[in-house]
Amino acid sequence: MAEEIIEEKDGNGNFIHDFIDEDIAKDGQFQGKTVHTRFPPEPNGYLHIGHAKAICIDFGTAEKYNGMCNLRMDDTNPTKEDVEYVDAIKEDIKWLGYSWEDRFFFASEYFPEMYKFAVELIEKGLAYVCQLTPEQMRENRGDISHPAISPYRDRPIDESLDLFARMKAGEFKDGTMTLRARIDLESGNFNMRDPVIYRINRITHHRTGDDWCIYPMYDFAHPIEDAMEGITHSLCTLEFEAHRPLYDWVIQNTSVSCKPRQIEFARLGINNTVMSKRKLRTLVDEGYVDGWDDPRMPTLCGLRRRGYTPKAIRSFCDKIGVSKVNSIVDYSFLEHCLREDLNETAQRVMTVVNPIKLVITNYPEDKTEVFQVENNPNNPDDGVRDITFSRESYIEADDFMEEPVKKYFRLYPGNEVRLKSTYIVKCTGCKKDDKGNVTEVYATYDPETRGGNTPDGRKIKGTIHWVDARNAVDAEVRLYDNLFTVPDPDSGDKNFLEYLNPDSLTVLKNCKAEKSLGELTPPQSFQFMRLGYFCLDNKDSKSGKPVFNRSVSLKESFKKK
Ligand code: ATP
Ligand code: MG
Repeated sequence: MAEEIIEEKDGNGNFIHDFIDEDIAKDGQFQGKTVHTRFPPEPNGYLHIGHAKAICIDFGTAEKYNGMCNLRMDDTNPTKEDVEYVDAIKEDIKWLGYSWEDRFFFASEYFPEMYKFAVELIEKGLAYVCQLTPEQMRENRGDISHPAISPYRDRPIDESLDLFARMKAGEFKDGTMTLRARIDLESGNFNMRDPVIYRINRITHHRTGDDWCIYPMYDFAHPIEDAMEGITHSLCTLEFEAHRPLYDWVIQNTSVSCKPRQIEFARLGINNTVMSKRKLRTLVDEGYVDGWDDPRMPTLCGLRRRGYTPKAIRSFCDKIGVSKVNSIVDYSFLEHCLREDLNETAQRVMTVVNPIKLVITNYPEDKTEVFQVENNPNNPDDGVRDITFSRESYIEADDFMEEPVKKYFRLYPGNEVRLKSTYIVKCTGCKKDDKGNVTEVYATYDPETRGGNTPDGRKIKGTIHWVDARNAVDAEVRLYDNLFTVPDPDSGDKNFLEYLNPDSLTVLKNCKAEKSLGELTPPQSFQFMRLGYFCLDNKDSKSGKPVFNRSVSLKESFKKK
């Protein structure tokens, strides 16, 4: 098999689209046909950011060619599958903004046809019932210099037809017989060494129940599923490249009415996380995270709860491009794409996560002033809102130092700072408890500086955020860090769980937010000034008791490099 030389392209084309252009061109194999793709998840877990890449490629390609993309649950493997997963998969794809319209299928619907195509292969002398046990089959696989062996290869067609019918009827025990495609026991591609295409497996299937005790293998089932749905281009990940000759063989040798073309692209990997559904399930089942939608998970529901937007994820998938080389993308690139989106759209508000009281001693006790502030300076259309200011505010504890370190421009006795959008205040001191902890900070304000301007032009180096104590709501804020401490938790000698980051979640319980933030319904994203982008948690927030997740910091942190 000659290897194609693939050149990576940027912009709006990629090698998949080049292949499709060839295929639909005049004289191409799909000349005049509508481009038809599919996304075929196995419903055994929630979708993750890797799936998002596949979804963007499958649905995005269909969109580009004004074609169609099916959603197919690849449920030919009769393991435990759950409607919970099916529903979640649909929800996530819709959330990303793609539609399969009325083309939603289960691969198990095609079991009867798959059986017929298997019989067809036997009749053509292209498949036979083999009685090697799985162990014997392994022993007889051969190697590069030795062919595989099956003593059943030349079994008469009638005998195989009879045995296959009886396999289906349940006459034989699990593992005693298989149906194998009769291809080439000497092939350098081991997938072609008379691969098993049906096995006996008495497991109740979540949709077909106990109708079947034989189940087709993926490599046989998948091309038939594609052909039955009229798929023109079956886009999949790189690990299927060596299976393509078998895919083509099934298409060529059965009387399917459509001849789809398989094209492979690189899997997406992201550092400091795991992407296999089995491992993600372990994290959930063993309680290391708070469900599939834990904001630290790379699942789409986790990213959504973290505050990721469909736009940010689609932009990420677009920018990483489509290539033939597996690679690991830095998590910070995903964050970059989110920041780009939220910078445009998120309302700016003030929230104090580690509060301490600031008392403006020369401000009247019964007075409250209203200031009008812009919701988003990047987006004047987002309008303005009113915030209140009075004698007592909350500020961040670390915005005050009794004895300032070098280059500290925030509050310390004698220094002036700007309270964002309101006044310039001058620190006059603080109060401490018995243990010497600061409990209140004192300052005076300069009434001439309303709006934060200095009429005399004096320079104010620091600006800090604050929340009016009279109009504050208590909030919980959750900060997240990498779920794993190493870039590739899968590749170490140890179990991936040993690389879990014990500090991946920090909960701040006593935060103070602008009052309007107490009565919201998700989804809502904000920029907490100076702190980062946050979203209202869609599970744990209650009226008057908001919980916010940090979606991403304001700037990239350099700790990773
Ligand atoms: P897992 O290893 O987590 O079980 P999978 O490949 O078995 O993943 P499927 O449900 O079969 O998961 O995936 C559906 C589709 O999504 C497949 O076409 C698969 O190639 C694609 N896909 C899965 N993971 C990735 C990834 N990391 N990057 C790109 N595409 C992916
Ligand atoms: Mg799979």
